[in-house]
Amino acid sequence: MNDTPWIDPGLPLIDLHRHLDGAIRLETVIEVAEQQGIALPAHDLESLRPHVVVDGKAASLMDFVGRFRWLTAILHDLDTCRRVAYENVEDAKREGIAYIELRFSPWFMADTHGLDPAGVVEAVADGIVAAERETGVRAQMIGIMSRTYDTETCHRELDALLAHRDHLVAVDLAGDEQKFPASRFAEHFRRARDAGLAVTVHAGEVEGPESVWAAIRELGATRIGHGIRSLEDPTLVDYLREHRIGLEVNITSNIHIGVVDDYPDHPAGRILDAGLLANLNTDDPAISGIDLRHEYEVAAVAAGLTPAMTRQAQANALEMAFLSADEKRKLKEGARTM
Ligand SMILES: [Zn+2]
Repeated sequence: MNDTPWIDPGLPLIDLHRHLDGAIRLETVIEVAEQQGIALPAHDLESLRPHVVVDGKAASLMDFVGRFRWLTAILHDLDTCRRVAYENVEDAKREGIAYIELRFSPWFMADTHGLDPAGVVEAVADGIVAAERETGVRAQMIGIMSRTYDTETCHRELDALLAHRDHLVAVDLAGDEQKFPASRFAEHFRRARDAGLAVTVHAGEVEGPESVWAAIRELGATRIGHGIRSLEDPTLVDYLREHRIGLEVNITSNIHIGVVDDYPDHPAGRILDAGLLANLNTDDPAISGIDLRHEYEVAAVAAGLTPAMTRQAQANALEMAFLSADEKRKLKEGARTM
């Protein structure tokens, strides 16, 4: 890896917020679609790209989410789920990532071709474990409940996740924040916490600070996916700082979804200036057409972050990681000897 002022070579490069099914290679999409006769809007890379990759800004959060359909269209069997999980870790290796937390909703991945959601969890775990061995990248799985399905379906989705609880480190709630508030999912998260899982929740991305409060108070979140609108509530800012609740910031994704107008308007710098625990992540690299280095070296720079700030974000990622103190120490030592 080339040295750059934005990345501290003495610290591991870490992505804590990446959707596994938003990081499927377009090459794999085309190859599997071809083999299986799966319909796509285009069958070569250049023509398919505009249907998946956002250029500038998506029309809405739901337009952004709609682009997933061309990625998940190829998940016709469990072997393909295993393959895309494996390739996710390979791609992380190529980006110079030492540790990654990959998240996915088994219900969403199973949906298009009617797969067994618990089978999807097992296949993804299989792919990740095999790729960890092969690449040396440390990877863990976060199970998403898709709030856009009803609460009953989310209980079944959680059942599928808990069937392979040993492969999971945490649970998350994703999907339409506006129509499906966190409060409806308190019982689901009580079940997940009782099973010993950590909690991170998508909040404060589209909705305001009250959604972050709900994620913390009603779901027990110790990390927040996005949380950029927390700045609107000074009491919340104090609370996040005091309790070391980490914000998983995704700069380019916020612009693509349209919750932030443009890079210079992004609040990442103000979040770090406020002394909050926040890091930089990719969210959906296949849909945003980015990788983690882009977020450190291009997006963060365009958002006005200094090298001291991106390096702080990198250090924060290590603190925020769902890993034991011992594993964090090993990751840090590994970076030093690279
Ligand atoms: Zn996300």
